[in-house]
Amino acid sequence: MIYREYGSTGKMVSALGFGGMRFKDIKDIDTCVSMMLTAARGGVNYFDTAPKYFGTGSEEAFAKGLATMRNENLPYYLSTKTDESHPDCIRREIDAQLKRLDVNYIDFYHIWCITSLDNWRERKKNGVLETFIKLKEEGLIKHICVSSHLIGDDIKELLMEEIFEGVLFGYSAYNFKTRQAAFDAITDRRIGCVVMNPLGGGIIPGNPEIFRFLQTVPDETVVQAALRFLFAHQEITISLVGFETEEQVNEALAAANSPLQLSPDKLKQIKKNATVSLEGICTGCQYCDHCPVNIPIPKYMDAYNQKILSDSKTAITDRLFWHWNLKPEDAAACIECGRCEEECTQHLNIIERLKEISVLPSK
Ligand code: SF4
Ligand code: SF4
Repeated sequence: MIYREYGSTGKMVSALGFGGMRFKDIKDIDTCVSMMLTAARGGVNYFDTAPKYFGTGSEEAFAKGLATMRNENLPYYLSTKTDESHPDCIRREIDAQLKRLDVNYIDFYHIWCITSLDNWRERKKNGVLETFIKLKEEGLIKHICVSSHLIGDDIKELLMEEIFEGVLFGYSAYNFKTRQAAFDAITDRRIGCVVMNPLGGGIIPGNPEIFRFLQTVPDETVVQAALRFLFAHQEITISLVGFETEEQVNEALAAANSPLQLSPDKLKQIKKNATVSLEGICTGCQYCDHCPVNIPIPKYMDAYNQKILSDSKTAITDRLFWHWNLKPEDAAACIECGRCEEECTQHLNIIERLKEISVLPSK
């Protein structure tokens, strides 16, 4: 396992992190705990959850996993988040989290999901920073971090806030261009950098041919290649994978524990070789999924992904029909309120895509 210092905190964390947002069956606690233990025994010491992953289910599963790790003397750092910004609400949230997680403190506590600079200014006005500082003074959290879906210079601006000791944002082999600017601020300020969605919400393993350009040795899987691509970034402290199954944990551990690491030159070469433009892909994060007219946006955008990721002229309608049982014409129900685009972590032009889908012939 590769270990790196998290920013300038002095804490050495594993380059592979365990994300608690994709467990296949959150009710099967024994399996969730077993996956966490497999990761911890393989050297992972960074475990990330949130109060709204499977409702409170992920934090509840983490409580059991972390308790077992403590019993087995397996070291860990705990990361979680809050999207509350009013002092009383944050206080209520963290009290509930500490109880739910059965811990006395949280190592890395994130101001969760900053969607725009306006959103950030609003939260600051509400007192989020003062409250986080107070929590740290009280010893309830050890480090103040932020999670964001901003891109380009916006994320740079956010990270100039001196208070942040680390950042969590989406970065993978297909969206690396949009978030490159963040690395300047990360390096200048020496803060921790955790990247989430490193496998593009399943898009990379689901399209091994398209992501073949990542592979540097013949026998590695595309998942291992995608993770090695991230590990080769010296600016990235941790690549956080949301695991569904134990097999996936083992596959990622094999990449993290392999002696094969990419040199900076090799990394540059891979980026150059990314001949297929992969930007504009929906990662299935579901942040947009609150449509007032109940359009299942992530499913429609997943179908649109197929158009980008395949040569087939019927890729969208095939996917809608066979995979989601949806009709293209139902996308016309969009009233163009714009809410989904504001929330979209990938900054997709959802309204235009829905219009394009809505006129496709139904199967
Ligand atoms: S813009 Fe259209 S799809 Fe998006 S939330 Fe509004 S109505 Fe729904
Ligand atoms: S459209 Fe955007 S917000 Fe919605 S699931 Fe896809 S990437 Fe996430």
